[in-house]
Amino acid sequence: MTAAHRPFIPIAKPLIGDEEKRAVMEVLDSGQLAQGARTEAFERVFADYIGVTHAIGVNSGTAALIVALQAHGVGPGDEVITTPFSFIATATSIVACGATPVFVDIDPFDLNLDPGLLEDAITDNTKAVMPVHLFGHPARVAEIREICEDLELALIEDAAQAHGAEHAGRRLGSFGTGCFSFYPTKNMTTGEGGIITTDDDEVARLCRIIRNHGQEQRYRHDYFGLNWRMQDVNAAIGLAQMDHIEGWNNARIANAEALSRLIRSVETPRVREGDRHVFHQYTVRLPGNRDAVQAALQEAGIGSAVHYPIPIHHQPIMQQLGFGEGSFPVAEAAADAVLSLPVHPSLGPEDVEYIAATINRVATR
Ligand SMILES: *Cc1c(COP(=O)(O)O)cnc(C)c1O
Repeated sequence: MTAAHRPFIPIAKPLIGDEEKRAVMEVLDSGQLAQGARTEAFERVFADYIGVTHAIGVNSGTAALIVALQAHGVGPGDEVITTPFSFIATATSIVACGATPVFVDIDPFDLNLDPGLLEDAITDNTKAVMPVHLFGHPARVAEIREICEDLELALIEDAAQAHGAEHAGRRLGSFGTGCFSFYPTKNMTTGEGGIITTDDDEVARLCRIIRNHGQEQRYRHDYFGLNWRMQDVNAAIGLAQMDHIEGWNNARIANAEALSRLIRSVETPRVREGDRHVFHQYTVRLPGNRDAVQAALQEAGIGSAVHYPIPIHHQPIMQQLGFGEGSFPVAEAAADAVLSLPVHPSLGPEDVEYIAATINRVATR
C-alpha cells in the first residue's frame, strides 16, 4: 500500500479494553473513589510480577521517585548520582527533595549510566545512585548495586520505562528500590499512576507513610509527606492490564527483533547478552540527518519521536549547575542522534515491514 492509502502509524498507542472499562465502572459503583481495596490488590499483583515483597501505589512515576528518595532520607545537602540522558523527572525529583543531581556520562552501547564512571563521582555527600533503565533496556544495575552496597549508598532504580525487563536473571525494580510509571504511553497504564517496589520492610513502611501526608496515625505527622496516593479507579485499570503486560512485552520484543532484522540503513538498538529489553522505545541512531529522516517518515505516514533532544544538564532549569558543551559528550551525541520508531503491540507484521522499508529508503548511513 502507498502512504496515502494506509492509516497513520502512531509512535504510541495505549490499549484499553472492555475489562478496564468494566473494572472502572465497578469502582465508581462501589463509592470507594480514593485509595482502597483495589489499590491494595494491584500492589500485591505488581509486587509478585517484579518478584519483591512490597509494592506501594502512588499517583505518578514522578511521585514514585520523590517518595522513594524521601524514604531513603534524601534531603537538602545530599547528592544523588544519575544519568544526564533521561526524561526530566529523573532529575527534578531529586531537586524536589532539596538534593542535588550529580550526573555521570552514559555508556554508548545502551545509553544508560556507565558504572565505570560512578566511583569518581562519589563524594562524602553522596546519598543515593539512581540509574535509569532507558527505553526498557537494563542499566548494568548488578554492578551498580555492588558499588552501592560497598559504600552504603541507596540504590533507586528509575524503571519508569522497564516493566518486566530483566538483568542477571531478575526483574528490574528488584535490585534496589524500583520506581515505575503507568503513564498512558508506557508498556502498561493506569491512566496517570506509579508504583514503588522493594524488599526492604522499613523502606516500604516509610513510603506508605510519606505518600499519605507523612501520617502513621491519623492527623499526627511524624514525617514530611504530601498527597501521593493512588486512586482505586487507576488501580482497577492497572489490575486489568496485568493480564496483558507479558503478551504486550513479548509483542514489543518480536516487533523490535523484526525491525532489527529488516533495517539496514541505520544503527539499530543493541541488547546486552542475557538481558531482557522490553522496548518501551525502539530507538535508532541517525547522526547528521535525523530531522530530514523524521520529516520523510511523517510524509510516509509513520510517527516517530526524539527521546530526548536536550540532555538534562543542558536544560534551561539546570543552568545553575553550570554544565557547558562537552560536559557529558556521550549523552550530548546521543541527544543529537536518537530517533524512536513505532514498536508498540498494535503493529501488524505489514506495519513493521513498511516501517523498515521506509527507513531503508529515506535514511542512509
Ligand atoms: C515517564 C517517566 C517518568 C515519570 O513518570 P510520570 O508517570 O510521567 O510522572 C520518570 N522517569 C522516566 C525515565 C520516565 O520515562
